Amino acid sequence: MRAEDAARRVKVLVLDVDGVLTDGGLYYTAEGLAMKRFNVQDGLGIKLAQAAGLTVGVITGLDSPCVARRVHELGIRHYFPGFRDKGDSLRAIAEAEGVGLEEMAFLGDDWVDVKPLAVVGLPMAVANAQPEILEMAAWVSTRPGGHGAVREAIRFILHCQGRLEAQWAAWNE
Ligand SMILES: [Mg+2]
Repeated sequence: MRAEDAARRVKVLVLDVDGVLTDGGLYYTAEGLAMKRFNVQDGLGIKLAQAAGLTVGVITGLDSPCVARRVHELGIRHYFPGFRDKGDSLRAIAEAEGVGLEEMAFLGDDWVDVKPLAVVGLPMAVANAQPEILEMAAWVSTRPGGHGAVREAIRFILHCQGRLEAQWAAWNE
């Protein structure tokens, strides 16, 4: 199926964190606390997606208070941190939302994302994803993770659904 056709069916977009919502960099304070850098354009994109009726979820292998904070700020209800099976987490979101896997998109960058990417209707990858992940993806961003790839993915989905233009019009009211 073409990425555009798959995008039209998407009701839930699930995002990886490291290398997707961030550039993959891990900063550590002297106390050992991890810090990550998020992108504000991605943040507004997530807000726009939610306003357009799309549900956004976040699945990450790592568990970090700064990610929990960002997820909370963005009003993301489905947050699965920690070392668990990303495929299981994805299915839990599908169940909670009452949607089929074909109505889901997943944006990833590395081998740990293989399970969700293999089952969703719209597998998406960031431009600097690992080669095997790029191969699996029906859609690849032009921007790397942490530098607007999430916003680009959301723009693509909303545009295919004819909702991007409506969001832009509503913004200008
Ligand atoms: Mg990642």
